Amino acid sequence: MARDPDCLFCGIAAGDIPSKQAHGDDTVVAFHDISPRAPTHILVIPREHIRSAADLTDEHAPLVGHLFAVAAAIARDQGIADAGYRIVTNIGRGAGQTVDHLHLHLMGGRPMTWP
Ligand code: 5GP
Ligand code: ZN
Repeated sequence: MARDPDCLFCGIAAGDIPSKQAHGDDTVVAFHDISPRAPTHILVIPREHIRSAADLTDEHAPLVGHLFAVAAAIARDQGIADAGYRIVTNIGRGAGQTVDHLHLHLMGGRPMTWP
């Protein structure tokens, strides 16, 4: 699995950097955000180092499907599924991306405003 030695989330996925893990399997890891913006705020990431959703190709289709399936399962586990929740991925600095390793923000447990 391609790993960037300088990447924070690669380090978390490998277990070298501690996190409060919510899910882990061969391709996807999920952990609680260190600075939660909602009562439930979990990051769902591929183990593979992909900089953002802008770098996804058709070959990533199974991985992306699995990322969303894991997020939905975690939402059910966390008890936020019935009330509704948000999945967001930021791309680039202007959108608020601060960690250049693809991640889904899974947020819920409070009403969400838009955008
Ligand atoms: P972005 O701003 O790139 O969309 O999201 C990055 C997220 O990673 C932020 O919500 C931030 O709070 C979270 N984050 C940054 N560093 C760490 C860390 O060391 N551990 C955890 N669990 N989350 C982090
Ligand atoms: Zn990475």
